[in-house]
Amino acid sequence: MLLTPHLLVGAACGIVSRNPLIAFSAGFASHIILDLLPHCDQDHLCYKKQFGIIKLISVIDFLLGIALLCILLRGRSLYTLQLAFFGACGGFSMDFVDNFIGKFLWPDFRKTKIGRWIHAFHEYFHTHTPPRKWILGIATQVASSFGSIVAFYYL
Ligand SMILES: [Zn+2]
Repeated sequence: MLLTPHLLVGAACGIVSRNPLIAFSAGFASHIILDLLPHCDQDHLCYKKQFGIIKLISVIDFLLGIALLCILLRGRSLYTLQLAFFGACGGFSMDFVDNFIGKFLWPDFRKTKIGRWIHAFHEYFHTHTPPRKWILGIATQVASSFGSIVAFYYL
């Protein structure tokens, strides 16, 4: 799933948790649940595996998620922002380690024992939606992001 829904849902779970450690854990759990839903990843948005474009989409996606969090949580208490931060970090951590470090920063990471294990764990919970079902793949991400935005309003 794209990073924006992971950041938004993770932050919402973090705020609900009322505890930084549980916030991170809840954000991490939300990552697994979101990855189980049918969705399109950056790879689906490119015809061939063009890593330059995939990197660019990932950076824009990450910045969009952070910008939305800043806008949506503006004026909240420091405690709420901390919970949102830990939740968002939990929601983002799996993609950070497996994709950012494993694909871009340290390409041999997945060849290490821990890197292989993390990638296998990540893939185990990952639904691979065929590109022809891209509407469903986008709809799940829009719905989860929108749900988080509504939740921020009530939290
Ligand atoms: Zn993931």
